[in-house]
Amino acid sequence: MIRRDYLIVGAGIGGASVCEGIREHDKKGTIVLAGNETALPYHRPQLLKAQLGKREGTPDQTQVHDAAWFANNHIELRLDTLVTQINLERHIAVLANGQAIEFRKACMAMGSRARRPQIAGGNLGNVFYLRTLRDVQALREVADLEHEIAIVGGGFIALEAAALLSQLPKARVSLLHRAPHLWSRYLGPDLGAWLAEYYADQGVKLMLNQSLSGFEGRTVLKNIATKNGDRVPAGIAIVALGAEPNLGLVAGTPLAYPHGTPVNEYLETDEKGIFAVGDIASYPDKIFGGVRRVEHWPCAVEQGHVAGANMSGKKRVKFDYLPHYSSTVFDLHFDFVGDFSKPATRLEIEGDRKNKKFLVRHFLLGHLMGVAFCNLPAENIEAAKKELRGWPRGKKAVVQE
Ligand SMILES: Cc1cc2nc3c(=O)[nH]c(=O)nc-3n(C[C@H](O)[C@H](O)[C@H](O)COP(=O)(O)OP(=O)(O)OC[C@H]3O[C@@H](n4cnc5c(N)ncnc54)[C@H](O)[C@@H]3O)c2cc1C
Repeated sequence: MIRRDYLIVGAGIGGASVCEGIREHDKKGTIVLAGNETALPYHRPQLLKAQLGKREGTPDQTQVHDAAWFANNHIELRLDTLVTQINLERHIAVLANGQAIEFRKACMAMGSRARRPQIAGGNLGNVFYLRTLRDVQALREVADLEHEIAIVGGGFIALEAAALLSQLPKARVSLLHRAPHLWSRYLGPDLGAWLAEYYADQGVKLMLNQSLSGFEGRTVLKNIATKNGDRVPAGIAIVALGAEPNLGLVAGTPLAYPHGTPVNEYLETDEKGIFAVGDIASYPDKIFGGVRRVEHWPCAVEQGHVAGANMSGKKRVKFDYLPHYSSTVFDLHFDFVGDFSKPATRLEIEGDRKNKKFLVRHFLLGHLMGVAFCNLPAENIEAAKKELRGWPRGKKAVVQE
């Protein structure tokens, strides 16, 4: 039997950050990082920018660390390696090549996969779901040949892909979204309508208030069909309807709840010595209360460092995180800080959309829950973070509504 001190399942940013966290406190313990992708851990948020549009950066520049970093830190990186079974009681995992590894401590960092709606034609050729480097490279190759591109969804990936692809010389991009505006959950209806106009002005054909009924074609996509009976010709469809956690490995165990793997404030699960980080981890939220699962890059980085420190046994660190997500579409850079999961009862807008510089404060029953920024500098964002954490009084202000 192969024996190691630490096993990390999933070589994404969560897994790579766990390695950093362990090595900061334990220079000697043996570490296996097993991931089923073939590329070294890479910067997923840069994928679209690096591969679509003007192809800024190269795949190498999106690497989190090069191969030498893993070697120098004595991390046994096993790429192209699916972990197929795990026995949480006996601390043994089985790899797709048949090897069994006994470990002292493990961290689940399996991330998530693109949601695939159960609709007709979802597996036709040229229907893309964007999650991995390979997915985006495959799309890019086809986008050089097929110029009629339909994007389904209204989230971050949908809008970023629409903005980048619409800048390709021959591309004609349409965006199908069931809501009447874009990002109105973050910006409110008024600015959501403004953003929709902005996309239309940049040449993106908007199909708002519409839902997808299916993809049509024989083997290869020809049209997308909407529930109100429209049929739109498309050489490429991108389905960007969110993600779901990869919990197949732990199915049937207490680590596989529908909303993720529950962890405590130290990011350890109920199974002693087994931790979870990144897109799968459902953690107690010290700032807004309740439990939260966040699909954000900085969250996975921070969780990786905290879990790694705690796994080393040399530290006992609590996870304390204020959600922060950034997104750039055309010349608009957005930052979203805080909790936007519930509809605001009041919005406060400051700034000017004509100059493309504004912020939107979200209140829920008098409590500030989140702030969305467009093209505003870092100091505004840092100030909002302090406000959201209730700094410096240790207590959050309640505004009378
Ligand atoms: C296109 C795209 C753009 C994004 N843009 C942003 C952004 O701008 N800002 C932001 O904050 N976030 C962004 N995100 C989200 C962010 O990338 C994720 O939150 C982050 O990657 C989560 O890290 P993770 O390590 O938990 O999971 P992942 O990065 O998904 O890594 C998990 C890895 O584990 C592997 N794995 C799963 N099961 C097994 C198994 N059984 N055995 C071995 N390996 C396994 C997976 O294949 C994967 O390689 C984006 C995501 C995508 C897809």
